[in-house]
Amino acid sequence: MQDTIKYVLDETRIPKFWYNIAADLPVPPPPVLHPGTLQPVTAADLAALFPAELIAQEASTEREIEIPEPIRDVYRQWRPSPLYRARRLEQMLGTPARIYYKYEGVSPAGSHKPNTAVAQAFYNKQAGIKRLATETGAGQWGSSLAFAGAVFGLEVRVFMVRVSYEQKPYRRALMEAYGARCVASPSDETASGRAVLASNARHPGSLGIAISEAVELAVQREDTKYALGSVLNHVLLHQTVVGKEALAQLMMADDYPDVIVACTGGGSNFAGIAFPFIGAQLRGGRKVRVVAVEPAACPSLTRGKYAYDFGDTGRLTPLTKMHTLGSSFTPPGFHAGGLRYHGMAPLVSHLKELGLIEAIACSQLECFEAGLRFARAEGIVPAPEANHAVRGAIKEALRCKIEGKAETILFNLCGHGHFDMQAYIDHLGGKLTDQSYDEAELAMALAGLPAVSA
Ligand SMILES: *Cc1c(COP(=O)(O)O)cnc(C)c1O
Repeated sequence: MQDTIKYVLDETRIPKFWYNIAADLPVPPPPVLHPGTLQPVTAADLAALFPAELIAQEASTEREIEIPEPIRDVYRQWRPSPLYRARRLEQMLGTPARIYYKYEGVSPAGSHKPNTAVAQAFYNKQAGIKRLATETGAGQWGSSLAFAGAVFGLEVRVFMVRVSYEQKPYRRALMEAYGARCVASPSDETASGRAVLASNARHPGSLGIAISEAVELAVQREDTKYALGSVLNHVLLHQTVVGKEALAQLMMADDYPDVIVACTGGGSNFAGIAFPFIGAQLRGGRKVRVVAVEPAACPSLTRGKYAYDFGDTGRLTPLTKMHTLGSSFTPPGFHAGGLRYHGMAPLVSHLKELGLIEAIACSQLECFEAGLRFARAEGIVPAPEANHAVRGAIKEALRCKIEGKAETILFNLCGHGHFDMQAYIDHLGGKLTDQSYDEAELAMALAGLPAVSA
């Protein structure tokens, strides 16, 4: 008993290990393929982009991977993040369910993303790297990496999708406040950017183009590497501090989730909160339902195809098997910028195929309605992305009400919405609409998937 309490307290402070679900999977996920040879990628293929330690984590099947002390030191500033019981929301909904949420908005950048940004910056610094290049859409990832770069003394170059660069000056200002250089993409600083500008000098940019620019910069110089904020195995791994803390915190409350809910863009905050619980289940522990909530306007898990595809529009990245809408698919411009990605993390996709997780798609309006309900009950204004998780949790709580079940619901409130108030202004002003994607464009993007024989 004494040992259990000590374990709980230690782990509640800051986990000492990340949890790697690859160790517990009943079937290993399909290999990542080199786009030229269609053979499984090797560590050498990835060496131009990432430091050796992160490449090793990408392929590791070790269950527990130690978190280096300098990373735990930075985590200590805001970790463990609080786990709250949403009592006023429960009351407002009249549900017998207990609703808990893990609040990742307490990090310096305001979301879960610094959990991996700090780790990636640390391993790059350790490998002697001087500069990191990355892309950002709405700016959450760019500002998280800018913060991590400032902590470890790395230069950070962020290619920000031009429309967002112009529409979201505050995220850009945050990156610059942390000392990063933020460039509107397409830019004239790379060959891929110049090529796009040559065809259209006023091109609005896209995440796919920004990735190509950042990758180009990383490949060009020995002292520069690339960093990605979601999708990859090592990114999901770093996010498991969220679920490990939640497990320990719920233990202190003498509770355990029946349902876990999180939003999915590339899948990292979802994996972060859910994988430790799915792992416990796979090792013979309690069964838990896990629900991914994605935007109806970019529904990779519910409407995409499980197939090999590129991670970027420029078709430069390795091929991964995932739920994808096609790398040429451009979702409509809804407000949850962090969820506008054509694919899904290969590990999350694999779990979906194995029937270990469920997925639902929710529209923009119902998510903002849920976010306002949450703000009025709990006082925290969620990021537009996080509104999807709130919507999913409310749906589950209302189901419990109808069924008269006192289930335990845990969801990831992955970020606050303080930099997204324009979206709330639009919503409160009645200007938000439900946008749907173009079916013909989706069909075309899916028809254009690379041919890879199973
Ligand atoms: C980036 C981001 C997301 C989407 O990314 P995931 O990898 O799916 O977590 C969701 N919410 C917030 C607040 C984000 O910043």
